[in-house]
Amino acid sequence: MRAISLGLLSTLSMASSLIASPLAAQQASDAMAPERATGVATAERAEAKTFMVAAANPLAAAAGRDVLARGGNAIDAMVAVQSVLGLVEPQSSGLGGGAFLVYYDASSGKVTTFDGRETAPMEATPKLFLDDQGQPLKFMDAVVGGRSVGTPGTVKLLHEVHSKLGKAEWAGLFDPAIKLASEGFEVSPRLATLVAAEGDRLKTYEGTTGYFFDDAGAPLQAGNVLKNEDYAQTLRTIAAGGANAFYEGAIAEAIVKTVREAEGNPGVLSLADLANYRIKEREAVCLTYRALDVCGMGPPSSGAAAVGQILGILENFDLRNLGPRNPESWRLIGDAQRLAFADRERYLADTDFVPAPIKGLLAKEYLSGRASLLDTKKALSKDAVTAGEPTWDHALLFGEGDAIELPSTSHFVIVDAQGNVVSMTTTIENGFGSRLMTNGFLLNNELTDFSFKTHADGIPVANRVEPGKRPRSSMSPTIVMKDGKPLLAVGSPGGSQIIGYVAQALVAYIDWQMPVEEIVAMPHLINRFGTYDLEAGTWAEEMAEPLQSLGYEVKVGEMNSGLHAIELTPSGLLGSADPRREGVALGE
Ligand code: GLU
Repeated sequence: MRAISLGLLSTLSMASSLIASPLAAQQASDAMAPERATGVATAERAEAKTFMVAAANPLAAAAGRDVLARGGNAIDAMVAVQSVLGLVEPQSSGLGGGAFLVYYDASSGKVTTFDGRETAPMEATPKLFLDDQGQPLKFMDAVVGGRSVGTPGTVKLLHEVHSKLGKAEWAGLFDPAIKLASEGFEVSPRLATLVAAEGDRLKTYEGTTGYFFDDAGAPLQAGNVLKNEDYAQTLRTIAAGGANAFYEGAIAEAIVKTVREAEGNPGVLSLADLANYRIKEREAVCLTYRALDVCGMGPPSSGAAAVGQILGILENFDLRNLGPRNPESWRLIGDAQRLAFADRERYLADTDFVPAPIKGLLAKEYLSGRASLLDTKKALSKDAVTAGEPTWDHALLFGEGDAIELPSTSHFVIVDAQGNVVSMTTTIENGFGSRLMTNGFLLNNELTDFSFKTHADGIPVANRVEPGKRPRSSMSPTIVMKDGKPLLAVGSPGGSQIIGYVAQALVAYIDWQMPVEEIVAMPHLINRFGTYDLEAGTWAEEMAEPLQSLGYEVKVGEMNSGLHAIELTPSGLLGSADPRREGVALGE
């Protein structure tokens, strides 16, 4: 399946020179070293007149840019970007995973969303992640193997949205990824570092061992040229046969076999789950913040609701005057996040299965009531951070869940010549997903985004596993609208920290008027559950003392965002890629 050589392919040397910052590679490996104080490089700003792509890997961004340059639209470019990302950044997203797309359609002037989230197999029960004694499994014991694999959604999302809104011929959109897969691509420093960091866990199953390690068991090195003929073949099949060729037939059979025969931890995914998988177009969830409409992904993602709640609470304070280097700003932002997370934990899940009070959670009166809890001038005590009582369409009560999310994932943004905007977050959940590989791609472990426990104090948890249900996500692909026109598209990977990363980028852009290259690079200060996480090696560390004296426990460490943003201005497009990863913004 693979051939490694140390030489560089000449066709790739041009692509490598597209890396936005010479520090990007260094930063990528730094981001893997927990607790090392390295700081964040400044990001570059790309400028373009007509179209632009910002994505986590230069080869993927270039593939999208080339589609746009040939007259393709943003949806066409999305297919090219995703198919290359699945090859060059396989640990983060791909054919075996799921995605959320927030889309601004220039011809209708509307923002809509497409849900390509994985589903729980029909044979799954709420006890999927409990052991024989009824206790929740250890997270990694649940992740590695077939048990955590949900029905993949990404391929169907690409195909259906392309059939509806694409312009270029479907089959040709896979050409760049097929070429890279069969001729080989240069392994990036970040991929090499992550493979090495994974070590034995990635050797649990044969498919992954054979692909990411050489015959002597040594991990891939940065600069190795890696081929993936199985992936090329899978893409040729999808190019010729569309999504059906993935959800039925030989590929589907191989996925099911890989999941059900995973040694030690088999899963219950079936051919029927794949054949019946549907993507869903859903209304965008929007909140007005300081006269702008911030639109994103509703359930099964908690993204737009939680980001919206944070902003809706903060709207009651003058953050602009307080400024970014002020502990009072971070007290307000941190406690707004904690309150949003308390509501998220109780109320948010797949609304096709459980009702959620989305309107109530985002109602201005409710959020100003939540904001008044912050009048204390001190950090909220633990007891004061509980879920609120938003208005419901009808009464319901849920117990609090305990879903754990660890970071991988990828976010990209595309603006085309017609002004269509793609803001898509795409994932296989954990880095390298379930560690199971078939047909050249990794299978997701998205089902571990469900709450492992089914009940809290006898009350069912909203985000418990149920057959056919989609696990709650934190992914927050966002488009900010001004007077009905798109102004900024942004999003990030980062597990449940995504919500804080995106909310912070929006506050930086809207309240502190920072340019795109600053909102993606700005130091992170994130508070989900009480402890304040401060980004090592940055000015965020200066906030440690003042935040401690306000009553917070603080923790300094590395942060793993991958924010990609494009701003649409009257004179053109401005884009930037998070210097913590290897991304780039490219346009013309
Ligand atoms: N699976 C997570 C979610 O859907 C994302 C994981 C990540 O960002 O690393 O929220």
